[in-house]
Amino acid sequence: MYVLDDLNLNIESIVMNKSANTFMELAFAEAIAAEEIGEVPVGAVVVDSLSGEVISAAGNRVEVHHDPSAHAELIAIQRASHKRMSPRLINCDLYVTLEPCPMCAQAISYARIRRLYFGALDSKGGGVESGARIFHQSSCRHKPEIYGGLCAGRSADMLRNFFQSKR
Ligand SMILES: [Zn+2]
Repeated sequence: MYVLDDLNLNIESIVMNKSANTFMELAFAEAIAAEEIGEVPVGAVVVDSLSGEVISAAGNRVEVHHDPSAHAELIAIQRASHKRMSPRLINCDLYVTLEPCPMCAQAISYARIRRLYFGALDSKGGGVESGARIFHQSSCRHKPEIYGGLCAGRSADMLRNFFQSKR
């Protein structure tokens, strides 16, 4: 587990944070459900950080919806925004099983997500710490607090197994 960027946050407190693990479990459940229908196994959950309520949860639906933008994070953000009847998810946190791609990272910024928690880094498709590094661009006007590497081993194994089984 590592904390990205210097935010003066206590790593121990995050590791000990049981609710963060619970929300990641939920995201993994969505990833597994996505894999079962032939999607790349990625899951995402939006949580109200004040109440601890899960506002939305989603897995990838790119193939099922015939939609290249139907990533777990975008679907979860859209559902949460509809529920909140606002495009800005103030005080909301997003849990994702894998480092978000540039498209989702940009949406996370637009949605004003408070904290982004994610699993393994995705050196090929990621856009947070890999590739485009969206939150580090001068055009990025809202940057969430970022916590990467939650259940990173499990997250990386899941993706590796998926792509190996497709060969
Ligand atoms: Zn994405």
